[in-house]
Amino acid sequence: KKVADRYLKREVLGEGTYGVVFKAIDTKSGQTVAIKKIRLGKQKEGVNFTALREIKLLKELKDPHVIELIDAFPHKGNLHLVFEFMETDLEAVIRDRNIFLSPADIKSYIQMTLKGLAFCHKKYVLHRDMKPNNLLIGPKGQLKLADFGLARLFGSPDRFTHQVFARWYRAPELLFGAKQYGPGVDVWAAACIFAELLLRRPFLQGNSDIDQLGKIFAAFGTPKPSQWADMVYLPDYVEYQYVPGQPLKTLFPTATEDALDLLSKMFSYDPKARISAQQALEHRYFSSGPLPTEPVLLPRPP
Ligand code: ADP
Repeated sequence: KKVADRYLKREVLGEGTYGVVFKAIDTKSGQTVAIKKIRLGKQKEGVNFTALREIKLLKELKDPHVIELIDAFPHKGNLHLVFEFMETDLEAVIRDRNIFLSPADIKSYIQMTLKGLAFCHKKYVLHRDMKPNNLLIGPKGQLKLADFGLARLFGSPDRFTHQVFARWYRAPELLFGAKQYGPGVDVWAAACIFAELLLRRPFLQGNSDIDQLGKIFAAFGTPKPSQWADMVYLPDYVEYQYVPGQPLKTLFPTATEDALDLLSKMFSYDPKARISAQQALEHRYFSSGPLPTEPVLLPRPP
């Protein structure tokens, strides 16, 4: 069955936050693609123009570490977003018990993540929904960020099923209800993913927003006003009982000093003090040994 005269529909790949994703062949290029069908709900005039304008911007967001949005069109009341097809994702890598990740492999995965982030942040686009299954892996081992900008465009309609996992990657300012936030939210999420690569399990698994903050504070200690002065002005700020926090070395016994130093800067409480994706890439962790594994040599699920 052809969609919009161009795409040959293949099997369903999965159900995502915004709707079903299926595999297809682009008859124009012969390329395999993934098409994300987004339910548009009951909007008066179908696809709204603001969304279309933003999608046009996303199409221009081209970088080796960002999934390319090849095409976007409305069809039978749904918006269809066409992306390059990717073999697997970082969640599958992390969960696969048969995969050993060396320090150089971890460095490579986190470097590619930060490269994608730095590129988008430079263009003033935030991801806002970074998690390991949004980091897709291509046939040559390249990691690319998926779903860039979609969180803001379409919101999260299915909060109950999907926000559960997204919560583990949420920055403290978001958990305190910040309405104005910046690229720091993606850096915090990248730090959680870094931690997850080291631990091979999600680092801070809160079961509610309050519990998530509790987990963060139990790990790093309740933030002191000297660390994060603006915290008290956040809409949902509540005072938490003092907890001391643990040394990073105890939390991540396998990590090197360089890795821990970078991690601590990415996990900075105050979003204004948090390291940027670009600064993180310039951290000595990436220039000191072991050097990041070449993407083609990275271990991947069969
Ligand atoms: P979520 O919104 O929960 O992150 P997605 O909508 O991104 O989920 O994806 C749903 C399913 O489609 C997932 O199983 C994912 O593996 C698959 N998928 C999404 N994008 C691609 C892609 N570009 N290539 C291959 N598979 C994809």
